[in-house]
Amino acid sequence: MCENYSDRALKMVQTQLRPRGIHDEAVLRVMSTIPRHFFVPHADLDDAYSDRALPTHEGQTISQPYVVALMTQLLEAQPGVRVLEVGTGSGYQTAILASLGAQVVTVERSRWLSQEARGNLEKLKLAGSVVFIVGDGSLGEPTLGPYDRILVTAAAPRLPKCYLDQLKTGGRIVIPVGDHETQTLMSYDFDGQKVTAQEHIAVRFVPLVGEQGF
Ligand code: SAM
Repeated sequence: MCENYSDRALKMVQTQLRPRGIHDEAVLRVMSTIPRHFFVPHADLDDAYSDRALPTHEGQTISQPYVVALMTQLLEAQPGVRVLEVGTGSGYQTAILASLGAQVVTVERSRWLSQEARGNLEKLKLAGSVVFIVGDGSLGEPTLGPYDRILVTAAAPRLPKCYLDQLKTGGRIVIPVGDHETQTLMSYDFDGQKVTAQEHIAVRFVPLVGEQGF
């Protein structure tokens, strides 16, 4: 199946992403080129381009393609934009951001997952614009901020205030907020004085654990 992955990635874009309103051509282009099967466990290779989240390692998940696409579209990560990603996981979302030309700082609490993700991005020659950090991303990564964008790919009980302290004026945060069962995908825009929140779709993510998480 991996020989024809580009056909499967293209089909994923045409059947799962465009019909649901993903319209950012840059996002659609990178999602049709990044080999998602690099990022899933061997046992799930046949499902790598399916319309669902998949288990990865250490009880974690790689999000459904549509959710990755929507979060990326909401992030508006143009080339050169500095992005803090919390929850590196498999590195699939990181690869999407790096392919869009973003400068990414990605934080993962599991050292093993972070190392695997780095290996995947190195194979794809995308690791050059990514800094991999092992630590508690619920606190952000203040030493490398501030950031234009913050993307959190684990469910938070509330927006950690420290993320706002690490965001530039004009910046945006995309994060699932809710309880252990379901969350709402939220975006927060900061104009230098006030924060404007917007609700998007219902989602279900693994929890953001740590000092500002669950
Ligand atoms: N974006 C990932 C991908 O494309 O594969 C999926 C991320 S998975 C849904 C959530 C990840 O968040 C897990 O790998 C988990 O270990 C990580 N995580 C949870 N709490 C964290 C924290 N406080 N700091 C850093 N990573 C955390």
